[in-house]
Amino acid sequence: MSKSIDVIVIGAGIAGSTCAMQLAGKGHRTLLLDRQEFPRHKTCGEFMSPETKEMLEVLDIHLLDIHLLDQSKKPSTMDHAKIVMRQGGVIEAPLPGFAYGISRYELDQILHQKALEAGAQIVTKATITSIEQLEDASYEVQVKQGDERISYRAKAVIGAHGTKKPRGMASAPDLRDQTVYVGVKSHFSGIEIPARVELYFCEGGYVGISPIEDGIVNVAALLTLDTVQGSGKSVNDILQAASLTNVSLAARLAEGKPVDGTQVSIAPLHLSNVPEPWSQYPHIGDAMLMIPPLCGDGMSIALRSSLLCARWTDKYLQGDIEHADWQSNYTLEASREFTQLLRRARRIQKLAFAKTNKFYPGLARMIPGLAAYVVKATRLSEMNAAR
Ligand SMILES: Cc1cc2nc3c(=O)[nH]c(=O)nc-3n(C[C@H](O)[C@H](O)[C@H](O)COP(=O)(O)OP(=O)(O)OC[C@H]3O[C@@H](n4cnc5c(N)ncnc54)[C@H](O)[C@@H]3O)c2cc1C
Repeated sequence: MSKSIDVIVIGAGIAGSTCAMQLAGKGHRTLLLDRQEFPRHKTCGEFMSPETKEMLEVLDIHLLDIHLLDQSKKPSTMDHAKIVMRQGGVIEAPLPGFAYGISRYELDQILHQKALEAGAQIVTKATITSIEQLEDASYEVQVKQGDERISYRAKAVIGAHGTKKPRGMASAPDLRDQTVYVGVKSHFSGIEIPARVELYFCEGGYVGISPIEDGIVNVAALLTLDTVQGSGKSVNDILQAASLTNVSLAARLAEGKPVDGTQVSIAPLHLSNVPEPWSQYPHIGDAMLMIPPLCGDGMSIALRSSLLCARWTDKYLQGDIEHADWQSNYTLEASREFTQLLRRARRIQKLAFAKTNKFYPGLARMIPGLAAYVVKATRLSEMNAAR
C-alpha cells in the first residue's frame, strides 16, 4: 500500500530544501528526501555571491539574522578577488558587492529548519530505488529507508539530487561535457585571509581559497580526472599535488592545516553542455545544470531554479494547469533563463583550461571581466524574481 503525498522533492541540498519550503508554505503535503544524514560536509567553495544572498532574501531567509549551529560563529564577508596564475601573475579586482562565506554544513541545516517550519517533512538516509510515472500522471516512488522499503504515491516529483541521478535514470550523453572532473573540498585552519576570495590556477584546474566561519577557510578544487590520477587518494593528497604546479598555492596551503573530518570529494563530475530542466519530472539546481564552478554561480542557480520550479509546481498542484503545461512552461522558462548563463561560464572555463602560456594574456584581458563575472553574471535584476 503506497503512502499518498502531494509532492516529493529528491535531494535536500540548497535547491531541494528551498523548493520544499516554498511548496509546503503553499499548503502542499511535501516530503523532502535525502540519502545522506545532516549536517554533512559538501564539495563546494562555499562562496556565496551577492545574488545568492539576495535570492535567499527573496525567500525571507536573512543570512545575518540566522543562527549557526554554534551560535558564537558568524559567516565571513568578502569584497575582492585575487587570481593567481600558474606562472605567478596576479590579478586583483574588487567584487561589485559583498560576498559571504558560510559552510554548507551550516547553511543546508539552516535551510532544513526553514523547510520544517514551513511544514515540509524531511526524511534523511532515504535512497530512491525507483520512480515510475503512472497513467494518471502521478508518480510511484520506491524508497529505501534503513531496512524498510516504502512506496509513495505523489502527484508531483522534483529532482534536486545534484549531478548524480537516482538509480535507473540517465541523462542523454550529449547533455554533458565529456571531460571528467573531480571536485574536492577541505576546511583549513591557520590560513590568515583578508576579505577576499583567492583563485589559483594549477595543472588541470583551479583551487579556490575563501574564508567561512570562525577563522576557518574553505579550500575547494576542480581538477580533471587525468591530472588527479596518480596524486594519491585522499583529498589532502590531491590538494598537495595540485599545489606542486603553483608555488603561490603551495606556500598558502603550507600556512595552515586541514581540519579533520571536513574532506569531501565528488567524482566523476561532468559539466553541462545545455540545461536539462526535465526528464519525466522537473530538475532543479545541479540536477538541471552543472555550471563550471569557477564563477561561483552554482548556489544562485540552485535558488533561481527552485523559485521557478516551485511557482509552476504550485500551479500544477492547485489544478490550475495540466501536467503537459507544467512540463512545457518550466522547461521553456528554465532553458531561457539558464542557457546564456551557461554559455558564458563555459567560455570562461575554456579559456581557463587552455594551454597556460597562451591563456594568461587572454584571461588577463578578461579581467576584471572574470572577477566581475563572479557576481555579475547572475544579477538578480536579470531575473524577474518577484513574478
Ligand atoms: C569544487 C566545487 C566548488 C564549488 N564552489 C561553489 C561556490 O563557491 N559557490 C557556489 O555558489 N557554488 C559552488 N559550487 C556549486 C554548488 O556546490 C552547487 O551548484 C550546489 O551545491 C547545487 O545545489 P543542489 O541543491 O542542486 O545540489 P546538492 O547541494 O548537491 O544537493 C543534492 C542532494 O541530493 C542528495 N541526493 C543525491 N542523490 C540522491 C538520491 N538518489 N536519493 C536521495 N537523495 C539524493 C545528496 O545527498 C545531496 O544532499 C561548487 C561546486 C564544486 C564541485
